[in-house]
Amino acid sequence: MSELTTLQHLIGGERVEPASGESFESTNPATRQPLYRAARGNATDIDRAVASATAAFEDPRWRDLSQTRRGHLLRRLGDLIAEHAEELARMETLDNGKLLREMRGQLATLPEYYHYYAGLADKIHGDVIPTSDRRVLNYTTREPLGVVGAITPWNSPLTLTSSKLAPALCAGNTVVIKPSEYTSATVLRLAELALEAGFPPGAVNVVTGFGAEAGAPLVDHPGLAKISFTGSTATGSRIASAAAGRFIGSTLELGGKSPNIVFEDANIPNAAMGVVAGIFAAAGQTCIAGSRVLVHRAVHDELLERVTERARAIRIGDPLEETTELGPLAFAEQRDKVAGYVELGREEGARVLTGGRATDGGLGGYFYEPTILVDVDNSMRVVREEIFGPVLAVLPFDTEEEAVRIANDTEYGLAAGVWTTSLSRAHRMADRLEAGTVWVNTYRAMSPMSPRQGFKTSGVGVEHGTETIKEYTRLKSVWINTGEEPVADPFTLRS
Ligand code: NAD
Repeated sequence: MSELTTLQHLIGGERVEPASGESFESTNPATRQPLYRAARGNATDIDRAVASATAAFEDPRWRDLSQTRRGHLLRRLGDLIAEHAEELARMETLDNGKLLREMRGQLATLPEYYHYYAGLADKIHGDVIPTSDRRVLNYTTREPLGVVGAITPWNSPLTLTSSKLAPALCAGNTVVIKPSEYTSATVLRLAELALEAGFPPGAVNVVTGFGAEAGAPLVDHPGLAKISFTGSTATGSRIASAAAGRFIGSTLELGGKSPNIVFEDANIPNAAMGVVAGIFAAAGQTCIAGSRVLVHRAVHDELLERVTERARAIRIGDPLEETTELGPLAFAEQRDKVAGYVELGREEGARVLTGGRATDGGLGGYFYEPTILVDVDNSMRVVREEIFGPVLAVLPFDTEEEAVRIANDTEYGLAAGVWTTSLSRAHRMADRLEAGTVWVNTYRAMSPMSPRQGFKTSGVGVEHGTETIKEYTRLKSVWINTGEEPVADPFTLRS
């Protein structure tokens, strides 16, 4: 293993060896070949990174930089990402097994995250508030918070990190990122590009390592002004409690068990394609996976036939190949978790219509067949819990009322899909579904311009759009008596 490259933390613009002196291995999940080693971060490294981010935040080179100039840096970073798109796409495919063709698609839009917030940087401002006395001026400002901690998962490291990094920098904060232990490489590369773009050393720091060893000390660090987390609901709950105990804000993007609802009046070929994309894209390893399909009994057989036929034809294999449609799960435990859920489904009485087996894809990797479970009901664990793999549960319904009830009968509320040609039904469903994102006759659409929020246990706070800037700023209200005389009777409260 000694010939493997070891990636160090990036702190204060420097590659920094871990205090532990230890590293851990990252492998290519398609082949199980070792890829690189990464620094095993701990509380001492987090201390250093937060100190560096604090110094950068207070440094006039960052603090006094005009908002317009901040925008220029973000624009430059977006341009650099575009220039390095193929390198970043390949790196992430090797690290987490996502299809190269999907990564190329992601990289085509990733620069927009930075370009969008580049445009927004000099449009962050407060307001002048009317007062009852013309001599009194009351205005608000929106200030950066300070050091933001960003903790991200392995399924889309570049995009999910950018959802936090771009607005945090846009608002004038500095950032310490703890990427997933399964995918350290592209996030480190992104931070290097931020340096190259001209962000001052310490504005963007990355400490690699495990959740308990590096993530938890970051969340608990007294120098942190905010934590922004994307990952499982279980970890999110722990992080929210820790943040609340210290009175700092947290933005949380968590799990899902999203319904994809097909009505009898839908365009069935389109709906079938949407169902396949919803659950089998990225091998189901997306928070917004449409893992429950609710289908009207009148079109149940036709839809199921189309989806099953397409699922059976999905080409499993090397994610670097342009023709591959399903790559591996990101690591062995994730493959085992998916396999365990399908076993559990069988025990619960579900029937495996297609799939249901792990395979090495001919490459020695952690693949799992596209799987469809029928004869299920909404009380089974396979239908209630997030599997995060290519496993679809199919539930028939008879009425719109019943569809709404089943769709909303979940602890999650991340996303939902509706397939119908009725305009009024589309609106009714959008209104009644308890989900932060509702798609009608499409699935998985998203953009840095469009704010999104998880309902129920799927999240707290908003990412993307102008809305998320509030999550990365604090509001200050300033009152100034512009006159020479006192404006109020000292014993009367006035505005
Ligand atoms: P995870 O919660 O296990 O880990 C996420 C990150 O948190 C990792 O960096 C991990 O090291 C860190 N972590 C773990 N324990 C920690 C602790 N005690 N303190 C601080 N940090 C800790 O999640 P995962 O398995 O990496 O990611 C998959 C999950 O992410 C799924 O549930 C998925 O739905 C969710 N997700 C949500 C969204 C969204 O936008 N809502 C997007 C992608 C993924």
